[in-house]
Amino acid sequence: MTTLFVSDLHLDASRPAATDCFLRFLAGQARDAGTLYILGDLFEAWTGDDAAGPHEQAILAALRRYTGTGRSCGFLRGNRDFLVGQRFAAETGAILLPDEALVDVGGTRALLMHGDTLCTDDHAYQRYRRLVHRPGVQALYLRLPAPLRTDLAAWARRRSRAANAGKPAAIMDVSQSAVTDALRRHGSELLIHGHTHRPAVHALEVDGRSARRIVLGDWYTQGSVLQWAAAGPELRTLAFG
Ligand code: MN
Repeated sequence: MTTLFVSDLHLDASRPAATDCFLRFLAGQARDAGTLYILGDLFEAWTGDDAAGPHEQAILAALRRYTGTGRSCGFLRGNRDFLVGQRFAAETGAILLPDEALVDVGGTRALLMHGDTLCTDDHAYQRYRRLVHRPGVQALYLRLPAPLRTDLAAWARRRSRAANAGKPAAIMDVSQSAVTDALRRHGSELLIHGHTHRPAVHALEVDGRSARRIVLGDWYTQGSVLQWAAAGPELRTLAFG
């Protein structure tokens, strides 16, 4: 049975072509698969399950229709939608995965991650991540009125863009030692992640054994899907509209 992986769609009402492409994908190609994994940053911003607007509601409904056909959807949170919670899971039928999830893909133990925790050379980002992942900070944020949450999220994205503009490209990529550590920790020889928007299949070696790291692409100008069928993995693109 085919398994599909996507990440970094960054869906937002301001980019309807990406949303249309994803909705067509869910109603079409994705139905040839038994399982769809979404590895984070499905949304450009997610300010709480209770704050989903009409654009988000349409995506939730499409995911619900997809899982309603008996197919499974695993959702791993990204750095843009780390506040996705149990209500999202209940409304979509998706299964929320931990930040590091081991799953069987065609007989291979695959380690799934969003990818931001692999960028360990970006110390400023990792500090920010630790802060916004503190349960107390999240609880406080989620008690704010929804419009204020939206403003704060937009401010955080502007700050992040400004900070990233001054960072060398290498700092914003994964660190090889973090990749090796993660594979070793989970006894896996396959890592699938997104976040860096640098789609590729990398061969590497961990403790003398060959391993692979597959990076998913973003959905800025086209869709990007990893399709894993009987013949193995293949990175594919989907044309917008
Ligand atoms: Mn990301």
